[in-house]
Amino acid sequence: MTSYERLFIGGTWVEPSSSSVIEVISPTTEEVVGTVPEAKEADIDRAVAVAREAFDSGPWPRMTAAERGAVLARVAEAVRAELAPLAELITTEMGSPVSWAQMAQVLAPSMILDYYAGLASTYAFESTRDGLLGPVMVRKEPVGVVAAITPWNVPLFLAAAKLSPALLSGSTVVFKPAPETPLDANRFAELLMGAGLPEGVLSVVPAGREVGEHLVNHAGVDKVSFTGSTAAGRKIGAACGANLKRFSLELGGKSAAILLDDADLDQAIPLLLPNAIMNNGEACISLTRVLVPRHRAAEMTEALVDHVRALTVGDPLDPATEVGPLVAERQRARVEEYIRVGQEEGAKLATGGGRPAGIDCGWFVEPTVFVDVDNSMRIAREEIFGPVLSVIPYDDDEDAVAIANDSDYGLCGGVFTGDDDRGLAVARRVRTGTYMVNSNIPIDFSSPFGGFKESGIGREFGEDGLELFLEKKTINLPAGYTPAD
Ligand code: NAD
Repeated sequence: MTSYERLFIGGTWVEPSSSSVIEVISPTTEEVVGTVPEAKEADIDRAVAVAREAFDSGPWPRMTAAERGAVLARVAEAVRAELAPLAELITTEMGSPVSWAQMAQVLAPSMILDYYAGLASTYAFESTRDGLLGPVMVRKEPVGVVAAITPWNVPLFLAAAKLSPALLSGSTVVFKPAPETPLDANRFAELLMGAGLPEGVLSVVPAGREVGEHLVNHAGVDKVSFTGSTAAGRKIGAACGANLKRFSLELGGKSAAILLDDADLDQAIPLLLPNAIMNNGEACISLTRVLVPRHRAAEMTEALVDHVRALTVGDPLDPATEVGPLVAERQRARVEEYIRVGQEEGAKLATGGGRPAGIDCGWFVEPTVFVDVDNSMRIAREEIFGPVLSVIPYDDDEDAVAIANDSDYGLCGGVFTGDDDRGLAVARRVRTGTYMVNSNIPIDFSSPFGGFKESGIGREFGEDGLELFLEKKTINLPAGYTPAD
């Protein structure tokens, strides 16, 4: 049991404004495993005021980027030092298989922190150039007070994806984690303060949607960095647009894996599958549509189904587990409803569709593969966010690209083929923000990541990720003047 009595506001643990408490419930045991105070509007007001003061007159934005980068490098080390306990904490909160959690939920965040720590010394925050009419300085200044809002599926990963570049920029942050995963957020805040983050720079305000809306609409917030559902992203974009507030959105996906007709299944399926059912299927980048050439459909489906049936389902704290429970009872109900809808629409279950035998507790769904799926069906168009795949046949490469692109989303995708050139030709034509050619790496932290179409606006990671938190300023200088360093 991990319990917090106070809220983390600007580096100090303070009394919350109300007695309201968030209970964190293990998706495996269905028992309460932690509690934190729930932030209310008054707590948001306080956190924003503290962040505003720290931005307007505190040391953080006035330090050098190198000094801020050094803090991030120390946090990266601190996160790595807690690899096993942090992974266990996150698995306990939301059910991610712990072996995967160590890599993706903890090691990856430490790599993100390290990447931005390194960028401190290579990124040109200020540069002088010969303009058309005279010397010009271009400065990239911190955007101000940032509201960072994240979902529960990869909580520390997304916290690192937002806080690392925001903090490197010199901005200050009010971080609203999802109510399902507040415990790792508080631990992350402790590690940041332990690494030397000055007072006032960071607050953590665990709360739900309504309080999130209050944060988004707060006049003291300059920029909203949001990851979550497309429905919420739409609302947040509209609210920010009305106030000309900066915003970036990382939203949902319905990505397609394309198996070309020359694919070697022994190589392709082990590359594809971890990205299709990663994190119990609760990943925005999951390759949930599997496109197969019609003349090899039966053989490819059989190979995929064999691999899916072999997945180890069970207690996510067991290092051998590959698929754990869904985050909450309502999430299981949502996934089961989609399984019902798929059958009603005429798709056939090739494997799964129920609850795993022999597991009486926890919000589990069997890894499931639908066949006879048409891309117009709801199970092929809507994000299910569970371990449910749809196999869709295509006629030729042209048709495969057309089906992959026939989606409201455009986040990720992958092509698997015996011919890398042919794979790259497909990759160039699929309209998504990130893509894999015979690869199982969906995100490289040094390179832009984000969505086309309804999968989002803006790009995280790489220099693009830092630039989400920078305002550009042009200073026209007098002729002949060269600024001192
Ligand atoms: P959600 O949109 O319901 O909630 C996400 C977060 O936003 C939570 O903290 C929630 O409290 C808050 N929130 C919700 N509505 C809000 C509003 N109107 N104003 C302010 N805050 C609000 O999403 P979820 O169901 O918890 O998470 C799953 C979704 O996240 C999926 O759609 C998934 O694809 C997406 N996701 C996207 C990425 C990406 O990088 N593109 C990564 C992970 C998850």
